[in-house]
Amino acid sequence: MKYFILFGPPGAGKGTQAGDMVKRYSLCHLSTGELLRHEIALGTPLGLQAKALIDAGNLVPDSVVEGMIQQRFESASGIEGFLLDGFPRTLEQAEALDQMLAARGEKVTGVISLMIPDALVHERIAHRALIEGRADDARDEIVQNRIATYHAKTEPLIRFYHQAGLYHEIDGTGSVEQVRERVFSTMDKL
Ligand code: ADP
Ligand code: ADP
Repeated sequence: MKYFILFGPPGAGKGTQAGDMVKRYSLCHLSTGELLRHEIALGTPLGLQAKALIDAGNLVPDSVVEGMIQQRFESASGIEGFLLDGFPRTLEQAEALDQMLAARGEKVTGVISLMIPDALVHERIAHRALIEGRADDARDEIVQNRIATYHAKTEPLIRFYHQAGLYHEIDGTGSVEQVRERVFSTMDKL
């Protein structure tokens, strides 16, 4: 099985690119953000706990997302691998992922990192706010907090995966099609 991580700041285009990636490589798309929004829509206890944190632009506890991922790994069938979108987001999550995979005799195949400058993050999230109506996209101070959280807690993963020889950075600026071509030309080699 292949285990790809789709990495990047909020609004980098991860969700946008994920659909074509999973089709081309027969992967199961696992977006922790989408899974959490689904729990919120269902009104589960986990969703209620997550909602306040997400709406404020903070991360949910590591144990919550790790549990969601572990559960999906166990129930997978008929696929070539996984595309982890928005997970891991902390060093603790990255270490937990390594342990989950080691227990299955597997390891991370590669990290596809979509990189855009902070100014473009603001632009893209403002665009998404008009279309998707997410509460965490609606207010500038929340978006600022998510960007700050990304720099403080998620960016250290770049070094972690770079040292492991797994980090592949892709220019996330330009059109959706241009980014898709860059992603495919990197993933075709992995
Ligand atoms: P992420 O999943 O990384 O948070 P999304 O895929 O939701 O990001 O993209 C954020 C917003 O930017 C969406 O409104 C999306 O339509 C738009 N978008 C994504 N990629 C591009 C691109 N290459 N050019 C212009 N807009 C884009
Ligand atoms: P974006 O790509 O725009 O940051 P996501 O859909 O990936 O949006 O995530 C939305 C929110 O869900 C995050 O701001 C965070 O509160 C929560 N979340 C998603 N994935 C994780 C994760 N791996 N760890 C902790 N919180 C997460």
